[in-house]
Amino acid sequence: MTSPRIDVDLGKIEANTRHLVDQLAPRGIRVVGITKATLGSPAVGAAMVRGGASGLGDSRIQNLARLGARDRSASRTLIRSPMLSQVDQVVRTATSSLNTGTAVLDALDAAARRQRRTHDVVLMVELGDLREGIAIEDVAAMAAVTRKRGRLRLSGLGTNLACRNGVVPDDRNMGELSRLVDQVESGGHGVLDVVSGGNSANLPWALSTSDVGRVNELRIGEAILLGTEPLHRTLLPGLHPDAFSLVAEVIEVAVKPARPWGDRAQTAFGHQAAVVRQLAPTRDRTIRQAILALGCQDVDVDGLIPPPGIAILGTSSDHLVVDVGDHAVSVGDELAFGLGYGALLRAMTSPFVSQVETRRPARPVLAAARWPAPIIA
Ligand SMILES: *Cc1c(COP(=O)(O)O)cnc(C)c1O
Repeated sequence: MTSPRIDVDLGKIEANTRHLVDQLAPRGIRVVGITKATLGSPAVGAAMVRGGASGLGDSRIQNLARLGARDRSASRTLIRSPMLSQVDQVVRTATSSLNTGTAVLDALDAAARRQRRTHDVVLMVELGDLREGIAIEDVAAMAAVTRKRGRLRLSGLGTNLACRNGVVPDDRNMGELSRLVDQVESGGHGVLDVVSGGNSANLPWALSTSDVGRVNELRIGEAILLGTEPLHRTLLPGLHPDAFSLVAEVIEVAVKPARPWGDRAQTAFGHQAAVVRQLAPTRDRTIRQAILALGCQDVDVDGLIPPPGIAILGTSSDHLVVDVGDHAVSVGDELAFGLGYGALLRAMTSPFVSQVETRRPARPVLAAARWPAPIIA
Protein backbone atom coordinates (compact mmCIF):
# COMPACT_ATOMS: atom_id res chain seq x y z
CA MET A 1 0.00 0.00 0.00
CA THR A 2 1.17 3.49 -0.70
CA SER A 3 1.54 6.18 1.91
CA PRO A 4 0.70 8.74 2.95
CA ARG A 5 -2.88 7.62 2.53
CA ILE A 6 -6.25 8.20 4.07
CA ASP A 7 -8.09 5.07 5.07
CA VAL A 8 -11.81 5.75 4.82
CA ASP A 9 -14.21 3.50 6.69
CA LEU A 10 -17.38 3.77 4.61
CA GLY A 11 -19.34 1.66 7.10
CA LYS A 12 -18.77 4.33 9.78
CA ILE A 13 -19.80 7.13 7.42
CA GLU A 14 -23.00 5.27 6.64
CA ALA A 15 -23.60 4.59 10.36
CA ASN A 16 -23.00 8.24 11.30
CA THR A 17 -25.42 9.40 8.62
CA ARG A 18 -28.03 6.87 9.73
CA HIS A 19 -27.69 7.96 13.36
CA LEU A 20 -28.27 11.64 12.53
CA VAL A 21 -31.07 10.87 10.06
CA ASP A 22 -32.85 8.78 12.74
CA GLN A 23 -32.46 11.49 15.39
CA LEU A 24 -33.61 14.32 13.14
CA ALA A 25 -36.48 12.59 11.31
CA PRO A 26 -38.88 12.75 14.29
CA ARG A 27 -38.23 16.52 14.34
CA GLY A 28 -39.18 16.77 10.68
CA ILE A 29 -35.62 17.49 9.53
CA ARG A 30 -33.86 15.66 6.70
CA VAL A 31 -30.12 15.48 6.14
CA VAL A 32 -28.27 16.61 3.03
CA GLY A 33 -24.80 15.03 3.10
CA ILE A 34 -22.01 17.51 2.37
CA THR A 35 -18.95 15.98 0.72
CA LYS A 36 -16.67 19.02 0.28
CA ALA A 37 -14.09 17.94 2.86
CA THR A 38 -13.61 14.73 0.88
CA LEU A 39 -13.12 16.35 -2.55
CA GLY A 40 -16.58 15.14 -3.51
CA SER A 41 -15.70 11.48 -3.00
CA PRO A 42 -18.37 9.42 -4.82
CA ALA A 43 -17.82 6.50 -2.39
CA VAL A 44 -18.38 8.79 0.60
CA GLY A 45 -21.44 10.29 -1.10
CA ALA A 46 -22.85 6.82 -1.75
CA ALA A 47 -22.30 5.86 1.92
CA MET A 48 -24.21 9.00 2.99
CA VAL A 49 -27.09 8.06 0.68
CA ARG A 50 -27.10 4.48 2.04
CA GLY A 51 -27.30 6.02 5.51
CA GLY A 52 -30.47 7.87 4.57
CA ALA A 53 -29.28 11.29 3.36
CA SER A 54 -32.02 12.88 1.26
CA GLY A 55 -29.45 14.31 -1.16
CA LEU A 56 -25.85 15.46 -1.49
CA GLY A 57 -24.18 18.85 -1.62
CA ASP A 58 -20.74 20.27 -2.29
CA SER A 59 -19.15 23.69 -2.62
CA ARG A 60 -17.29 22.90 -5.89
CA ILE A 61 -18.88 22.15 -9.23
CA GLN A 62 -16.07 19.71 -10.09
CA ASN A 63 -16.94 17.69 -6.99
CA LEU A 64 -20.62 17.64 -7.93
CA ALA A 65 -19.60 16.36 -11.36
CA ARG A 66 -17.68 13.50 -9.72
CA LEU A 67 -20.70 12.65 -7.57
CA GLY A 68 -23.07 12.82 -10.54
CA ALA A 69 -20.88 10.59 -12.68
CA ARG A 70 -21.35 7.80 -10.15
CA ASP A 71 -25.01 8.29 -9.35
CA ARG A 72 -27.45 10.67 -10.98
CA SER A 73 -30.37 9.72 -8.77
CA ALA A 74 -29.34 11.66 -5.63
CA SER A 75 -29.96 15.42 -5.73
CA ARG A 76 -26.78 17.49 -5.96
CA THR A 77 -26.81 20.97 -4.45
CA LEU A 78 -24.10 23.54 -5.07
CA ILE A 79 -23.71 25.07 -1.60
CA ARG A 80 -21.57 28.06 -2.63
CA SER A 81 -23.09 30.85 -4.76
CA PRO A 82 -22.40 29.95 -8.39
CA MET A 83 -19.66 31.87 -10.18
CA LEU A 84 -21.05 33.81 -13.13
CA SER A 85 -18.39 32.13 -15.25
CA GLN A 86 -19.74 28.67 -14.34
CA VAL A 87 -23.52 29.02 -14.67
CA ASP A 88 -23.76 26.66 -17.65
CA GLN A 89 -21.88 23.95 -15.76
CA VAL A 90 -23.97 24.61 -12.65
CA VAL A 91 -27.25 24.08 -14.50
CA ARG A 92 -25.87 20.96 -16.20
CA THR A 93 -24.31 19.43 -13.07
CA ALA A 94 -26.21 20.62 -10.01
CA THR A 95 -29.89 19.95 -9.42
CA SER A 96 -30.07 23.05 -7.22
CA SER A 97 -27.89 25.86 -5.90
CA LEU A 98 -27.78 28.26 -2.97
CA ASN A 99 -28.04 31.86 -4.16
CA THR A 100 -27.90 35.44 -2.98
CA GLY A 101 -28.06 37.84 -5.93
CA THR A 102 -29.94 38.85 -9.07
CA ALA A 103 -26.93 38.88 -11.41
CA VAL A 104 -26.36 35.17 -10.83
CA LEU A 105 -30.09 34.34 -10.84
CA ASP A 106 -30.46 36.02 -14.24
CA ALA A 107 -27.47 34.14 -15.61
CA LEU A 108 -28.73 30.80 -14.22
CA ASP A 109 -32.14 31.45 -15.79
CA ALA A 110 -30.53 32.17 -19.16
CA ALA A 111 -28.32 29.06 -18.91
CA ALA A 112 -31.32 26.90 -18.02
CA ARG A 113 -33.21 28.32 -20.98
CA ARG A 114 -30.30 27.45 -23.31
CA GLN A 115 -30.27 23.91 -21.96
CA ARG A 116 -34.08 23.58 -21.91
CA ARG A 117 -34.06 22.71 -18.23
CA THR A 118 -35.26 24.15 -14.96
CA HIS A 119 -32.96 24.79 -12.01
CA ASP A 120 -33.94 24.82 -8.32
CA VAL A 121 -32.87 27.81 -6.25
CA VAL A 122 -32.56 28.16 -2.48
CA LEU A 123 -32.18 31.80 -1.40
CA MET A 124 -29.70 32.27 1.43
CA VAL A 125 -30.53 34.76 4.18
CA GLU A 126 -27.98 36.75 6.22
CA LEU A 127 -28.69 36.10 9.90
CA GLY A 128 -25.57 37.48 11.52
CA ASP A 129 -22.52 35.40 10.60
CA LEU A 130 -21.73 37.87 7.79
CA ARG A 131 -20.72 35.44 5.11
CA GLU A 132 -23.22 34.83 2.30
CA GLY A 133 -26.84 35.91 2.49
CA ILE A 134 -29.55 38.37 1.49
CA ALA A 135 -30.49 41.07 4.01
CA ILE A 136 -33.68 40.17 5.89
CA GLU A 137 -35.60 43.13 4.49
CA ASP A 138 -34.76 42.16 0.89
CA VAL A 139 -35.76 38.48 1.04
CA ALA A 140 -39.38 38.89 -0.07
CA ALA A 141 -38.35 40.99 -3.07
CA MET A 142 -35.62 38.51 -4.08
CA ALA A 143 -38.13 35.65 -3.81
CA ALA A 144 -40.43 37.54 -6.17
CA VAL A 145 -37.55 38.15 -8.61
CA THR A 146 -36.68 34.43 -8.56
CA ARG A 147 -40.26 33.44 -9.24
CA LYS A 148 -40.42 35.70 -12.27
CA ARG A 149 -37.54 33.84 -13.92
CA GLY A 150 -39.27 31.20 -16.03
CA ARG A 151 -36.54 28.56 -15.81
CA LEU A 152 -35.88 28.90 -12.09
CA ARG A 153 -37.92 27.28 -9.35
CA LEU A 154 -37.78 28.84 -5.89
CA SER A 155 -37.47 25.72 -3.79
CA GLY A 156 -36.86 27.44 -0.49
CA LEU A 157 -34.84 29.56 1.92
CA GLY A 158 -31.67 28.75 3.81
CA THR A 159 -29.03 30.25 6.02
CA ASN A 160 -25.50 29.48 7.14
CA LEU A 161 -24.07 30.37 10.54
CA ALA A 162 -20.98 29.51 12.58
CA CYS A 163 -18.54 29.75 9.68
CA ARG A 164 -17.02 33.20 9.33
CA ASN A 165 -17.84 34.55 12.79
CA GLY A 166 -18.88 31.51 14.79
CA VAL A 167 -22.43 32.81 15.31
CA VAL A 168 -24.38 30.11 17.18
CA PRO A 169 -27.67 28.79 15.72
CA ASP A 170 -30.42 29.30 18.30
CA ASP A 171 -34.18 29.75 18.66
CA ARG A 172 -33.84 33.43 17.82
CA ASN A 173 -32.05 33.26 14.46
CA MET A 174 -33.78 30.03 13.43
CA GLY A 175 -37.12 31.61 14.42
CA GLU A 176 -36.27 34.54 12.15
CA LEU A 177 -35.71 32.12 9.26
CA SER A 178 -39.08 30.47 9.92
CA ARG A 179 -40.77 33.88 10.04
CA LEU A 180 -39.24 34.75 6.63
CA VAL A 181 -40.52 31.47 5.17
CA ASP A 182 -44.04 32.34 6.36
CA GLN A 183 -43.66 35.83 4.91
CA VAL A 184 -42.54 34.58 1.49
CA GLU A 185 -45.33 31.99 1.40
CA SER A 186 -47.94 34.57 2.33
CA GLY A 187 -46.84 36.43 -0.80
CA GLY A 188 -49.23 33.92 -2.38
CA HIS A 189 -46.97 31.49 -4.20
CA GLY A 190 -47.49 28.28 -2.28
CA VAL A 191 -45.46 26.32 0.22
CA LEU A 192 -41.66 26.28 0.06
CA ASP A 193 -40.16 22.77 -0.06
CA VAL A 194 -36.81 23.54 1.52
CA VAL A 195 -36.00 25.37 4.73
CA SER A 196 -32.31 24.68 5.10
CA GLY A 197 -31.32 25.79 8.60
CA GLY A 198 -27.56 25.35 8.38
CA ASN A 199 -24.65 22.99 8.87
CA SER A 200 -23.27 20.66 11.57
CA ALA A 201 -23.18 23.64 13.97
CA ASN A 202 -27.01 23.52 13.99
CA LEU A 203 -27.11 20.03 15.50
CA PRO A 204 -26.89 21.00 19.20
CA TRP A 205 -29.83 23.37 18.59
CA ALA A 206 -31.83 20.99 16.39
CA LEU A 207 -31.47 18.09 18.83
CA SER A 208 -32.39 20.07 21.93
CA THR A 209 -34.87 22.81 21.01
CA SER A 210 -38.53 22.38 21.81
CA ASP A 211 -39.50 23.93 18.46
CA VAL A 212 -37.60 23.60 15.19
CA GLY A 213 -40.14 25.93 13.54
CA ARG A 214 -40.18 25.60 9.76
CA VAL A 215 -36.65 24.19 9.47
CA ASN A 216 -36.87 20.89 7.56
CA GLU A 217 -33.33 20.35 6.31
CA LEU A 218 -29.73 20.57 7.53
CA ARG A 219 -26.63 20.38 5.36
CA ILE A 220 -24.27 18.11 7.29
CA GLY A 221 -20.62 17.43 6.55
CA GLU A 222 -18.36 17.45 9.61
CA ALA A 223 -20.68 15.58 11.98
CA ILE A 224 -21.07 12.72 9.51
CA LEU A 225 -17.40 12.61 8.58
CA LEU A 226 -15.76 13.20 11.98
CA GLY A 227 -18.54 12.84 14.55
CA THR A 228 -17.98 16.38 15.86
CA GLU A 229 -20.04 19.56 15.98
CA PRO A 230 -18.07 22.65 14.93
CA LEU A 231 -19.10 25.07 17.72
CA HIS A 232 -16.95 23.51 20.44
CA ARG A 233 -15.59 20.54 18.48
CA THR A 234 -17.13 18.10 20.90
CA LEU A 235 -17.95 14.58 19.83
CA LEU A 236 -21.67 14.03 19.37
CA PRO A 237 -22.94 10.95 21.19
CA GLY A 238 -23.52 7.90 19.03
CA LEU A 239 -21.19 9.00 16.23
CA HIS A 240 -17.90 7.43 15.15
CA PRO A 241 -14.96 9.90 15.28
CA ASP A 242 -12.60 7.62 13.39
CA ALA A 243 -14.09 7.06 9.95
CA PHE A 244 -10.89 8.61 8.56
CA SER A 245 -7.29 7.96 9.51
CA LEU A 246 -4.14 9.27 7.94
CA VAL A 247 -1.42 6.67 7.58
CA ALA A 248 2.22 7.69 7.15
CA GLU A 249 5.48 5.76 6.93
CA VAL A 250 8.54 6.03 9.18
CA ILE A 251 11.74 6.95 7.28
CA GLU A 252 14.18 7.50 10.17
CA VAL A 253 14.38 6.44 13.80
CA ALA A 254 17.16 7.66 16.08
CA VAL A 255 17.88 8.55 19.67
CA LYS A 256 18.61 12.29 19.55
CA PRO A 257 19.07 15.08 22.09
CA ALA A 258 15.82 16.70 23.15
CA ARG A 259 17.27 20.16 22.45
CA PRO A 260 18.86 21.58 19.32
CA TRP A 261 22.30 23.17 19.51
CA GLY A 262 23.90 26.16 17.79
CA ASP A 263 22.52 29.72 17.42
CA ARG A 264 18.85 29.64 16.52
CA ALA A 265 16.71 31.80 14.22
CA GLN A 266 13.52 31.02 12.26
CA THR A 267 12.35 27.57 11.25
CA ALA A 268 11.24 26.52 7.73
CA PHE A 269 7.88 28.23 8.14
CA GLY A 270 9.10 31.32 9.90
CA HIS A 271 8.19 30.36 13.45
CA GLN A 272 10.37 30.21 16.46
CA ALA A 273 10.65 26.49 17.12
CA ALA A 274 8.87 25.44 20.29
CA VAL A 275 11.58 23.78 22.32
CA VAL A 276 10.15 20.80 24.10
CA ARG A 277 10.91 21.96 27.63
CA GLN A 278 8.28 19.82 29.24
CA LEU A 279 9.82 16.77 27.61
CA ALA A 280 13.39 17.87 28.11
CA PRO A 281 13.97 19.19 31.60
CA THR A 282 17.71 18.68 31.44
CA ARG A 283 20.23 19.52 28.80
CA ASP A 284 21.28 16.01 28.08
CA ARG A 285 17.93 14.31 27.94
CA THR A 286 17.42 12.27 24.78
CA ILE A 287 14.35 11.37 22.79
CA ARG A 288 13.53 8.38 20.65
CA GLN A 289 12.71 10.41 17.61
CA ALA A 290 11.09 9.16 14.41
CA ILE A 291 10.60 10.99 11.14
CA LEU A 292 7.52 10.26 9.07
CA ALA A 293 7.28 10.94 5.34
CA LEU A 294 4.48 13.45 5.88
CA GLY A 295 4.50 17.24 5.96
CA CYS A 296 2.69 20.47 5.28
CA GLN A 297 2.32 19.51 1.62
CA ASP A 298 0.13 16.64 2.75
CA VAL A 299 -1.82 17.79 5.78
CA ASP A 300 -2.47 20.58 8.28
CA VAL A 301 -0.31 19.13 11.03
CA ASP A 302 -2.12 21.11 13.76
CA GLY A 303 -5.19 18.95 13.18
CA LEU A 304 -3.44 15.59 13.55
CA ILE A 305 -4.32 13.37 16.51
CA PRO A 306 -1.32 11.15 17.26
CA PRO A 307 -1.51 7.58 18.53
CA PRO A 308 -1.30 7.14 22.31
CA GLY A 309 2.21 7.54 23.67
CA ILE A 310 3.41 9.43 20.61
CA ALA A 311 3.95 13.22 20.57
CA ILE A 312 4.32 15.48 17.55
CA LEU A 313 7.49 17.56 17.94
CA GLY A 314 7.82 19.49 14.71
CA THR A 315 7.10 19.66 11.02
CA SER A 316 8.24 21.08 7.71
CA SER A 317 7.06 20.71 4.10
CA ASP A 318 7.86 17.00 3.94
CA HIS A 319 8.88 15.74 7.40
CA LEU A 320 6.93 15.10 10.57
CA VAL A 321 9.11 14.61 13.63
CA VAL A 322 7.60 12.65 16.51
CA ASP A 323 8.70 11.39 19.92
CA VAL A 324 7.83 7.69 19.86
CA GLY A 325 8.39 7.18 23.57
CA ASP A 326 8.51 3.51 24.44
CA HIS A 327 7.07 2.26 21.16
CA ALA A 328 9.30 -0.14 19.22
CA VAL A 329 9.06 1.80 15.97
CA SER A 330 11.31 0.94 13.01
CA VAL A 331 11.90 2.35 9.56
CA GLY A 332 9.13 1.16 7.26
CA ASP A 333 6.46 1.02 9.98
CA GLU A 334 3.19 2.84 9.45
CA LEU A 335 1.55 5.11 12.01
CA ALA A 336 -2.12 6.06 11.86
CA PHE A 337 -3.33 9.51 12.95
CA GLY A 338 -6.80 10.84 13.59
CA LEU A 339 -7.83 14.02 11.79
CA GLY A 340 -9.59 17.26 12.64
CA TYR A 341 -11.65 19.07 10.00
CA GLY A 342 -8.87 21.26 8.55
CA ALA A 343 -6.43 18.36 8.49
CA LEU A 344 -8.95 16.15 6.70
CA LEU A 345 -9.70 18.83 4.12
CA ARG A 346 -6.03 19.45 3.37
CA ALA A 347 -5.13 15.76 3.21
CA MET A 348 -8.06 14.94 0.91
CA THR A 349 -7.03 17.73 -1.47
CA SER A 350 -3.29 16.94 -1.49
CA PRO A 351 -2.14 15.16 -4.65
CA PHE A 352 0.39 13.28 -2.51
CA VAL A 353 -2.17 11.58 -0.28
CA SER A 354 -4.04 8.63 -1.74
CA GLN A 355 -7.44 7.50 -0.55
CA VAL A 356 -8.39 3.93 0.25
CA GLU A 357 -12.12 3.55 0.71
CA THR A 358 -13.40 0.30 2.14
CA ARG A 359 -16.34 -0.85 4.20
CA ARG A 360 -14.00 -2.06 6.94
CA PRO A 361 -10.35 -1.01 6.62
CA ALA A 362 -7.52 -2.87 8.33
CA ARG A 363 -5.84 -0.70 10.96
CA PRO A 364 -2.05 -0.56 10.92
CA VAL A 365 -0.74 -2.89 13.62
CA LEU A 366 1.16 -0.24 15.49
CA ALA A 367 -1.12 2.59 16.19
CA ALA A 368 -4.70 3.15 17.01
CA ALA A 369 -5.48 6.81 17.27
CA ARG A 370 -6.59 8.44 20.49
CA TRP A 371 -9.92 10.22 20.31
CA PRO A 372 -11.45 12.91 22.44
CA ALA A 373 -14.10 11.60 24.83
CA PRO A 374 -17.66 12.72 24.18
CA ILE A 375 -18.40 15.82 26.22
CA ILE A 376 -22.06 16.27 25.39
CA ALA A 377 -23.75 13.51 27.39
C1 LIG B 1 -19.42 23.62 4.44
C2 LIG B 1 -20.84 23.99 4.41
C3 LIG B 1 -21.79 23.17 5.01
C4 LIG B 1 -21.42 21.92 5.79
O1 LIG B 1 -20.75 22.30 6.95
P1 LIG B 1 -20.31 21.23 8.07
O2 LIG B 1 -19.88 22.05 9.23
O3 LIG B 1 -19.21 20.43 7.47
O4 LIG B 1 -21.50 20.41 8.37
C5 LIG B 1 -23.13 23.53 4.89
N1 LIG B 1 -23.50 24.64 4.22
C6 LIG B 1 -22.62 25.46 3.64
C7 LIG B 1 -23.11 26.66 2.92
C8 LIG B 1 -21.25 25.18 3.71
O5 LIG B 1 -20.38 25.99 3.13
